[in-house]
Amino acid sequence: MVRARVSIDRVKCTLCYRCVEFCPTKTFIVENGVLVTRDDKCIACYGCIKLCPVNAIDIKVTSYSVIEYVKYH
Ligand code: SF4
Ligand code: SF4
Repeated sequence: MVRARVSIDRVKCTLCYRCVEFCPTKTFIVENGVLVTRDDKCIACYGCIKLCPVNAIDIKVTSYSVIEYVKYH
């Protein structure tokens, strides 16, 4: 199981919500007009990083299983 920390640079973010629409695990949600992240959902697929038009997203993997370690190294 991957654990990751998802950060949004709120100065760069234009609130286009592409990440909200794309994320397969619904890590990004909009609450009262504010973009928030639920890091426990992230599986570190890095898709949101590739599609964010202003490079506002950073994903830091903090831990993963042995199988995932082999996959990423
Ligand atoms: S894709 Fe990037 S710019 Fe668009 S809402 Fe997400 S973080 Fe903000
Ligand atoms: S890396 Fe993948 S799972 Fe994690 S927030 Fe981005 S799109 Fe969602």
